Amino acid sequence: MKEVKYIIPHGHTITKENRQQLKNHKSCILWYTGLSGSGKSTIANKVEEMMFDMGLHTYILDGDNIRMGLNKGLGFSDEDRKENIRRIGEVSKLFVDAGVIVGTAFISPFRSDRDMVRSIVKDGEFIEIYVNTPLDVCEQRDPKGLYKKARAGEIKQFTGIDSPYEAPAKPEIDLLTANRSVEECAQEVINWLQEHNYIPVEEPALTDN
Ligand code: ADP
Repeated sequence: MKEVKYIIPHGHTITKENRQQLKNHKSCILWYTGLSGSGKSTIANKVEEMMFDMGLHTYILDGDNIRMGLNKGLGFSDEDRKENIRRIGEVSKLFVDAGVIVGTAFISPFRSDRDMVRSIVKDGEFIEIYVNTPLDVCEQRDPKGLYKKARAGEIKQFTGIDSPYEAPAKPEIDLLTANRSVEECAQEVINWLQEHNYIPVEEPALTDN
């Protein structure tokens, strides 16, 4: 990569902490990782719905808004997958700076890539959520018919089939999804964020009786 000299950062008046105070919650990355069909997008979406209802400021980065835009042109070789994650990491960091809780739903199969993203943000800002679904369950779900195509050899370098997936060693949240509802899984994420003081605990509404 070309080194660019003479870029001197401008000290902006409004800080990340100011933005967090304005919204009354911390900003962080909810990094969902897991096999294709494990439930990353589905759970990220449900968690965002719940957080939106709580008045929290959120966004989701996924294949649709990243692979079609910023990362258009990147393929699925090891090198391109690495660059894909690097860019997503940098964009996520900007969202954290903007005071937003950003969910990212990408397979992100390599431990070193995920650790790289963890290393570019502050301690506690990277929350690794292992969407822990066995390959056979993902393959049964096959929501996009991709496993069928990969097994037939129509898709090459498919994670879990002919490309490796390195499971997180110490994820903040180890989310088991098999035989559980989407709501249950999403609630586990919300509970974790409340227990660790990222988001406020909603007080039950007072009633007369
Ligand atoms: P990914 O984003 O990891 O590729 P998707 O979210 O697109 O996976 O697909 C997961 C599929 O599994 C969806 O069809 C979803 O309805 C189904 N599913 C069944 N149970 C769960 C669960 N507990 N959590 C998430 N998804 C589930």
